[in-house]
Amino acid sequence: MKAIRLHHTGGPEALVLDDLPEPTPAAGQAVVKIEAAGLNYIDVYFRTGLYRGELPLTLGFEAAGTVTAVGSGVAEVRVGDRVAYAGVLGAYAQYAAVPADRLVALPPAVSARQGAAAMLQGLTAHYLGTATWPLRPGDTCLVHAAAGGVGLLLCQIAKMRGARVIATVSTQGKAELARGAGADEVILYSEQDFEAEVKRLTDGRKVQVVYDGVGKTTFAKGLDCLAPRGMMVLYGQASGPVGSLDPQVLNAKGSLFLTRPTLAHYVLTREELRARAGDILGWVSDGRLRLRIDLEVPLQDAAAAHRALEGRHTTGKVLLIP
Ligand code: NDP
Repeated sequence: MKAIRLHHTGGPEALVLDDLPEPTPAAGQAVVKIEAAGLNYIDVYFRTGLYRGELPLTLGFEAAGTVTAVGSGVAEVRVGDRVAYAGVLGAYAQYAAVPADRLVALPPAVSARQGAAAMLQGLTAHYLGTATWPLRPGDTCLVHAAAGGVGLLLCQIAKMRGARVIATVSTQGKAELARGAGADEVILYSEQDFEAEVKRLTDGRKVQVVYDGVGKTTFAKGLDCLAPRGMMVLYGQASGPVGSLDPQVLNAKGSLFLTRPTLAHYVLTREELRARAGDILGWVSDGRLRLRIDLEVPLQDAAAAHRALEGRHTTGKVLLIP
């Protein structure tokens, strides 16, 4: 089978199309014939070496397709089931062996491409908006990079929960997309001082929560956008890692909370995974959550997809099609 592997970390050219044997399922695993794999910013961190894995490695944490084989002891899925998953490395491939307890069934109305587009960024938006800071009416949240994969979904979930959404994006085109996802206010943080704009838009009251997947270029100012006892949710670093922080800063800026969450800790059990995925796929199925699949790229062109994502040219989801 074909797979995109990293033999060393580096630029997009480090993504190499290799021929590998088709996987066979170990105990507790199912083999999935992948119809679509999701591109996520974490793939860039692994490729560049910001996050480390044992090389060579097959990149990719998200896919959907059909179960073609199961190992001993697997009760969760059967051959022929349509499934999706997130958080298991090895998705940039034609087949992947996946722990069966990480697979969720695709509803009949949700295609494999939609499943691959919904899982990782959808589960992330879900836990950010419902668990890390459970948004409720009366809250105002600041969502950075709101036209991105997580951003568009988080705006929609925040609106479902009755919050006011202030979004940041870098271009007018992205601003339109953020508004389409429900953002009440959109700040062009490439041109405007987002801290001053947040203060203006909230009459100085500021926001209850900042969702920051951008990191280096936004983190410090984001702390100044928070109302007393507000929460900084630093969930990524698309612009680069954030440096160290003196905890006293949280006191001085208003008894703030700081968390650096990751999806794995919000889908710890199969029950939690099924509950979050059930919401997300159910909302996709009934039209309450709209997916934006921006690009569908052949698997062998993964490098071009990485260039587009890192170059801030993508909006919503990028899929790799094996
Ligand atoms: P996006 O589609 O959001 O792409 C990243 C966006 O970040 C860009 O489109 C761009 O939007 C913005 N950005 C700002 N500065 C830069 C920069 N210097 N270089 C590149 N992009 C920049 O990606 P994802 O939806 O996949 O991920 C968004 C964030 O969420 C990432 O940080 C990712 O690591 C994180 N994440 C965290 C998870 C967790 O559980 N902790 C799980 C999933 C994702 P603009 O042009 O509008 O500025």
